Amino acid sequence: MADHMIRLLPALTPENQHFWTGGAQGELRFLRCTRCRHLIHPPAPVCPECLSRELEVATVSGRGIVHTYTVNHQPWYPGMATPFVIAIVELAEQPGLRLTTNLVNCAVDQVKIGMPVRVLFENHDPVWIPLFEPAS
Ligand SMILES: [Zn+2]
Repeated sequence: MADHMIRLLPALTPENQHFWTGGAQGELRFLRCTRCRHLIHPPAPVCPECLSRELEVATVSGRGIVHTYTVNHQPWYPGMATPFVIAIVELAEQPGLRLTTNLVNCAVDQVKIGMPVRVLFENHDPVWIPLFEPAS
């Protein structure tokens, strides 16, 4: 899939750089509130739980489960490889900490809600897109 996927890449900002470049070190990173330890996604300047502005960058395990998914069959541009899986993955570290992503290295008819997955990264230097694959 990745070979045929045109990505619209995010603009890097001081607020989101940790997230989009962590893959260079193989790390999935989120902002974490230093007061209540809440992990924040998408990046925001204030903790939504306690309103603290004292945030730090934290690396998580990269493990999670498929919260829900859909299979895209529509080639949105010529040459786009289909089908592929668009998934919402919930990270192991915190209920509700979810990423919208693609599931790769898995046949589309093998995807199940609740299946364990782990992160991998697709490099679009300097951006590293976090994707997920089945965890063995
Ligand atoms: Zn907080």
